Amino acid sequence: MRSFNHSIDAYKEAVDLMPGGVNSPVRAFKSVGMNPIFMERGEGSKIYDIDGNTYIDYVLSWGPLILGHAHPNVVNRLKKVVSNGTSFGAPTKLENQLAKLVIERVPSIEMVRMVNSGTEATMSTLRLARGYTGRNKILKFEGNYHGHGDSLLIKAGSGVATLGLPDSPGVPASIAEHTITVPYNDLESVRYAFEQFGDDIAAIIVEPVSGNMGVVPPKEEFLPGLRQVTEEYGALLIFDEVMTGFRVGYHCAQGHFNVTPDLTCLGKVIGGGLPVGAYGGKREIMEKMAPTGDIYQAGTLSGNPLAMTAGLETLKAMDKTAYQAINEKVDKLIAGFTKAAAENDIPLQVNRAGSMVGFFFNDQAVVNYDTANSSNVERFATYYRAMIEQGVFLPPSQFEGLFLSTSHTDEDIENTIKAANIAFQQL
Ligand code: PMP
Repeated sequence: MRSFNHSIDAYKEAVDLMPGGVNSPVRAFKSVGMNPIFMERGEGSKIYDIDGNTYIDYVLSWGPLILGHAHPNVVNRLKKVVSNGTSFGAPTKLENQLAKLVIERVPSIEMVRMVNSGTEATMSTLRLARGYTGRNKILKFEGNYHGHGDSLLIKAGSGVATLGLPDSPGVPASIAEHTITVPYNDLESVRYAFEQFGDDIAAIIVEPVSGNMGVVPPKEEFLPGLRQVTEEYGALLIFDEVMTGFRVGYHCAQGHFNVTPDLTCLGKVIGGGLPVGAYGGKREIMEKMAPTGDIYQAGTLSGNPLAMTAGLETLKAMDKTAYQAINEKVDKLIAGFTKAAAENDIPLQVNRAGSMVGFFFNDQAVVNYDTANSSNVERFATYYRAMIEQGVFLPPSQFEGLFLSTSHTDEDIENTIKAANIAFQQL
């Protein structure tokens, strides 16, 4: 049995200092019946806790670390940049470099603005969409999570789904009334909402692959259908690619599915493990932002040189071959899990987009929030603890996807499959 004594002590100290002992609710491990595990160090595909336990890491800081932990390109470049100072409050050429890469790779982005988190990116795009169209309402999907902005914390996924808190207190009804929520993958409901409120809907915001109710890919007609209906009614289409951006593929989810939104939100991989978000889109729309336009958004640390550097080194390393290599590892992982589940008579649904993977303990296909919610969360918790015991660090919730990096080796995958086999025998 692994010992977690140091983590337990650290947690006892933390709960007096921070709500729930954590700075982000999903880290609390509540739904899997464990205390949080305190980490000390990461290298490549491995993460090490303060009790000296080693894990193969499939959380990867919830997605950003597509190169794995402490990648030499990122670390060495950061060391050089940090010695020149950490922030200037004036532009640097690093911002131009990252902006150029983003514009080159993301089909919808002609101009970009850097921010500090995914939440800032989504909040800013909503303001821009409302300012640009002069309309008030936003349409979002059940189980999609777009950060913790007021308009978006309605029937959201991620920790909100894990903790069963669908609508947060503190969001005024006068704001919530402008958010329309419909089931994911359900074009008919989208059309119905537009028939009712079409002249006041500023935008649809959608995770092109949902990663916050577990992984749920779009049905074939879903994203093209959203593109069509938004064009018909003069609303904007916003892809929240905070999770899928540079994760699902070289040209993000929009390239993968060949649907171009008006605006795109980025985060996670674009910052390579440092706090970065970004939003961008058509020049004509982006120029409505201050200082060229009159819609306001700003940030003391936006475009921070360290954050730009980690993002740049990460994106530079992620050429098309790198995506191919990760995808092959994902194929192996999925094949192994599917076989292990069949051998142990465990109903397991597998959803996947690039190197985002969702395993659901469920005997029906998971296509939206309701079907995701019908998964067996008790079974997930038992499986989760068995995997931790064997040194596999997974996101501690049935409603979160897992990620792979370029650092994961064939041996990591084989060991993970062996662990899953043992875990499944215990279910
Ligand atoms: N959008 C999506 C799709 C996300 O997955 C997340 C975070 N998991 C966010 C927005 C919010 O990003 P952040 O946590 O950086 O604010």
